[in-house]
Amino acid sequence: TVDWKGKRVTVAGLGVSGIPAARVLHGLGAVVTVVNDGDDERSRAQAAELEAEGITVRLGDGATLPEGTELIVTAPGWRPDKPLFQAAAEAGVEVWGDVELAWRLRGPDAAPWLAVTGTNGKTTTVRMLASILEAAGLRTAAVGNIGVSLLDAVLGEERYDVLAVELSSYQLHWAPSLRAHSAAVLNLAPDHLDWHGSMEAYAADKGRIYEGNQVACVYNVADPATERLVEEADVVEGCRAVGFTLGTPGPSMLGVVDGILVDRAFVENRQKNAQELAEVSDVQPPAPHNIANALAAAALARAFGVDAKAVRDGLRAFRPDAHRIEHVLDVDGVAYVDDSKATNTHAAEASLAAYEPIVWIAGGLAKGATFDELVSRSAKRLRGVVLIGQDRALIREALARHAPEVPVVDLDRTDTGAMSAAVQEAARLARPGDTVLLAPACASMDMFVNYNKRGEAFADAVRALAGAEQTGT
Ligand code: ADP
Repeated sequence: TVDWKGKRVTVAGLGVSGIPAARVLHGLGAVVTVVNDGDDERSRAQAAELEAEGITVRLGDGATLPEGTELIVTAPGWRPDKPLFQAAAEAGVEVWGDVELAWRLRGPDAAPWLAVTGTNGKTTTVRMLASILEAAGLRTAAVGNIGVSLLDAVLGEERYDVLAVELSSYQLHWAPSLRAHSAAVLNLAPDHLDWHGSMEAYAADKGRIYEGNQVACVYNVADPATERLVEEADVVEGCRAVGFTLGTPGPSMLGVVDGILVDRAFVENRQKNAQELAEVSDVQPPAPHNIANALAAAALARAFGVDAKAVRDGLRAFRPDAHRIEHVLDVDGVAYVDDSKATNTHAAEASLAAYEPIVWIAGGLAKGATFDELVSRSAKRLRGVVLIGQDRALIREALARHAPEVPVVDLDRTDTGAMSAAVQEAARLARPGDTVLLAPACASMDMFVNYNKRGEAFADAVRALAGAEQTGT
């Protein structure tokens, strides 16, 4: 344990993790300096509050290492190549992220951690996991990169039997000594590469989640890169690699047989070689990628000793968060589905794989992505496409290359009213039995405040369409 009295700690970044970290460390007796790149009105107000409590804040300079710093606690988003960290490396000063701080202060004593990372599906899987753990009667919470800070969870009044923890690749980068009970990497696709420096560095940071696991390292059989990370990890003796697959599971796996989620890794009744957990239709929405999320959540819960019935009850009780493959309405036999949260091509590909035929509404800010793979893999499912947003030409060109026969309506609009026009165009292209799917494969900020607002605009437009149908206008 660390003797915090008089320890000179620099907190990097005012923000959701920095402010609570500064307060906690100050409360422990550390001499805290917060450094922040920005120097705007908001940070000045926050700084004034902290200064009043006896915490030093330096605004407008996040680059220089304060004199005498013995430890840096950084906001997870700060890039490792920042000058502050170079200075720290030269001075031999350790850097911890918010997760590392929570872990060092009370992580192992507060409750065992069941941890989840991956490029897509983290939030959904962690919520499913928490729902299963609750169904098993355990005191638990979904925490981490999901809105509830780990620091609050481990230091708060509330007592937990187990925590369902979502971890981003940034958080993992800065959490060298974290040791989970069991952990899952859901999938690995290129994302945030500018931050990590390379795909290898990104994968290595994600792989940190397996280090020191006690019971199970859960990997995706369809994504061999996740299994490689398990092989490279240093785990507690007896800790097992457990795969999940949408196909028939091998001996140490969870999978799907005849529409039933089954477990061949943690079998309760030794007479059987597989334990039935739930039906595919128990999972909302029953899209393939989401069944994979459910299997990963089930694997972690089973590693913690949860029985099959609680897995089923927990999955049945789970409801997806808004704008994640959310079924809005049926109008004239056409289903309208909102996956506004599909802000990258990997996520959009998952929801496009779940329906056929599809009228696809896409476009927005591409963030440097290319669309050839997504379009060529999804082409045969497309009835038509409606494009909106700033970078729509990139998608239009990929469609011309890989799906020249699919009709495309390029709305050439980035105003907020474009969504309503897009839904009307989509309705014109769709036939009964089709799905109109908003899965933009792009960020929303060219047209909307965030993906929530984009999804709401879509749902409003669909409701308006349904109203117009009813009144015959
Ligand atoms: P995260 O927390 O990793 O961002 P979410 O659960 O919020 O993940 O889902 C984000 C988006 O990714 C959603 O639009 C969803 O359609 C898609 N998605 C969810 N699970 C998966 C998965 N296992 N593989 C690919 N895409 C997924």
